[in-house]
Order: sequence, then C-alpha cells, then structure tokens
Amino acid sequence: MPDKRANGGQVLVLNCGSSSLKFALIDPRNGNASLSGLGDSLGHSAPSVSWKIDGEKHSAALPEGAKHTEVIEFVVTNILSGGGILRADIAAIGHRVVHGGEKFSHSVLINEQVISAIQDCVALAPLHNPAHLQGIEAATKAFPGLPQVAVFDTAFHQTMPRQAYIYALPYELYEEHGIRRYGMHGTSHRFVSERAADLLGKAKADVNIISAHLGNGASIAAIQAGKSVDTSMGLTPLEGLVMGTRCGDVDPGLLLHLGVRLDYCMKEINDLLNKKSGLLGISQLSNDCRALEQAAAEGHQGAQLALEIFCYRLAKYIASYHGVLSHVDALVFTGGIGENSAYIRENVLNRLIGLGYRVDETRNLEMRFGAEGAIEPPSGTTSTPKVLVIPTNEEWVIARDAAQIIASGNSAASGQPAGGS
Ligand code: AMP
Repeated sequence: MPDKRANGGQVLVLNCGSSSLKFALIDPRNGNASLSGLGDSLGHSAPSVSWKIDGEKHSAALPEGAKHTEVIEFVVTNILSGGGILRADIAAIGHRVVHGGEKFSHSVLINEQVISAIQDCVALAPLHNPAHLQGIEAATKAFPGLPQVAVFDTAFHQTMPRQAYIYALPYELYEEHGIRRYGMHGTSHRFVSERAADLLGKAKADVNIISAHLGNGASIAAIQAGKSVDTSMGLTPLEGLVMGTRCGDVDPGLLLHLGVRLDYCMKEINDLLNKKSGLLGISQLSNDCRALEQAAAEGHQGAQLALEIFCYRLAKYIASYHGVLSHVDALVFTGGIGENSAYIRENVLNRLIGLGYRVDETRNLEMRFGAEGAIEPPSGTTSTPKVLVIPTNEEWVIARDAAQIIASGNSAASGQPAGGS
C-alpha cells in the first residue's frame, strides 16, 4: 500500500446530488485521484457505495434510508482509514455547488455567510443546492475544523455582459426575482479553455475559445480572453443544446400550448421537457449517444433523426459564437460525447465547412477515450481553425481552487460573496 502521507495536502472533493454523492481524493498539484467513489440511491431503497482506491474496485450496501451524512461517515470510518489515509493528509474539502446566482463569481471558503447565500440560491436550483447544503453540514460534522471551499458551476459565467444574460422579459423579473441567464458547466468550460490556451502555447488572456461540453447535459460557451461572454444554458440547465433527455431551446409558446390546449399540468410539463425530450424523446429509444450511434448504423430512423438534430443544433450554436467572438483561436470538444464520439465531431465539423472547419479522419479517431489533441488536418495543408479534444477534469479544478484559497488566505476568496457581474 503506497504511503498516502507522501501526498499530503490532498483535497477531498464532494459532489452532492439529490440522491447521490460523488467523492474523490485529489492531489491538487497534478489532478491524480488516489480515491474516487459514488454513494448512490440515497434516500431511496437499497442505497449503496462503490469506490476505487489504488486501482482496486470495492462496493458495499448502506443502511436503508442512508443519505449524504451516512456516505461521508462511511468514507471516513471505512474507506479512508482502511486505505491508510489519515485526516491529516487532507488539507481541505472542495464542494461542487451548482448555483451561486449572482452572489459568487469565484470559489470561496465556506462560512456561515456563504452557507446562507447558497441557501438564498435554492429557488434557482431546487434539486441541487439543498443537497450541497446537506453535504456541507455532513462534512462539517465529519471533519471539524477542516477548511471547506465551494466551487460554483455558475461562477465562470458571471463575466457575461448584460446583453448575453438579460432575457427580453419585463425587467422587474430580473430585478425582483433574479430571472436571467446564469449558465452552468462553468468549471468544465474554465478547465478546458485554460488547457486549450496551454496547448496553443499562449496565455489565456490572449486566446478566444468556443468550448462545447457535450455529455448527458450539454452546453457551449464563448470565451474571450479567458472570460465567458456567452453560454447556451440559461436560468436553468434546460436552455440551449439538445441533451440526453432535455429539449434545449424551444418556442416558449410551447408551454402555453401544452398547458392551455393540451391540458398538461406543471409537473407533466417539467417531466416532458427535462426527462422525456432530447435524444431520448426524438429517438424514442435512448438518451445514450453511443447506443444511438449503434442503432443509427443499423438503420434505426429515430436514432438517425436524433443525432442529426443534435449535430445541426450544435453546429448552429458554434456558428453563432463566431459572431459573438471577434476571432476564434480554437473550438474545443469535451464531456462524454465530446471526448469520445468521432462520429458527432465529424458530423458537426462537416456542417461548418463554410467557416473553414475541416476534420482529419485519422486524428479524429485517435482522439478518444482520454486522448487529448487536435483533430483538424495538420497545419500546412489548409488554414483551418484549430479543433481540440480535451478531457475535462472538474474535480481537479475544485481541488486546485480549494488548495489555492487555503494557501493564500486571500480575503477576496475567503468567504465574501462576490459582488455579482
Ligand atoms: P457524460 O454525461 O459526460 O458522462 O457523457 C455521457 C454521454 O457520453 C452519453 O451519451 C454516452 O453515450 C456518451 N459517450 C460516452 N462514450 C462514448 C463513445 N465512445 N461514443 C459515443 N458516445 C459516448
């Protein structure tokens, strides 16, 4: 068993969902995870925890009714001590928090004021923020005195200008209820855009990037000189691209039509748009891109149509972000689909030939399953925009932010909610 103390200063990264808790012990210097795992079915029947430590997989049942607190207790008493990891090896806890509203434009050290600000944002993320608060409370009990840092999905997009985030609705809805576009996946867009600048050999302030995070949830961001200036998700993660089960952009008149003409209630509309639409809804088969690619190749027309619409809508967003940015240094693909689907990338790029995009088939096939690099033809043949595949690593960003905040003791990052955008 390797001596974990040799890696002192690790960060325990927690990502609490409504019925799940992902955890990982990350070395902030290089992103290596000595431990990663998932508590699943929390608050439901047959809750369980599975984890991987030093490459070995394990799993265990949790008591009926177990929630986030029980997972964290299990991590402390069974996994960490069983794996020879001491509390002293953990320098901080980093929490992924979905919604920080306009209160947070950076990661912050968690204190009472921050907890109450996360609470204030519950209306904007009713499924996620309460789960994050439970995770913070459980971690405070399990690790008394250990610094905890909150890293917000929305923070990176707080640099968007008003023209990008204000809806064309009565302005008082923004002023009184915070109804505006916030964007999500900010931690991923930030990570891959910074990595893209590294790969281009430039400072992040010197590059403009279009970042496409394509997973079961999907969003795209226009990043100018290291700052998000537009993104496809809005008040909620429903806006924008076609996703696994979410519809993305629709005519808002659809909601009236469903409610008034077709007699749908609010819950049915919510389920329809969030859980039954997207790739699943169109294909009537699956939300899983890999399964749809297979079915489409075998002639399934619903799968073919779903993938066609997914690529068409994504290509339209990419083209529109060329209008947002003065120039584009690179287009980046990330997320489960972006990192692995050569088919989707080729299909999208072939729709953007008018903007100069080209794809190199061999490179495109090579850049899968964790590989990182360019997929446009080698330079010299044509002057095409750079297209990069970059595996995202949100846990590493969370660990880095946590380590940086506790090392600096910086007041701007020490629990003062930021002043908005
Ligand atoms: P994520 O939410 O980032 O984990 O991404 C999940 C999505 O990535 C699912 O739609 C998967 O089908 C898709 N995905 C993962 N691997 C592949 C692959 N090799 N080819 C196509 N899609 C993939």
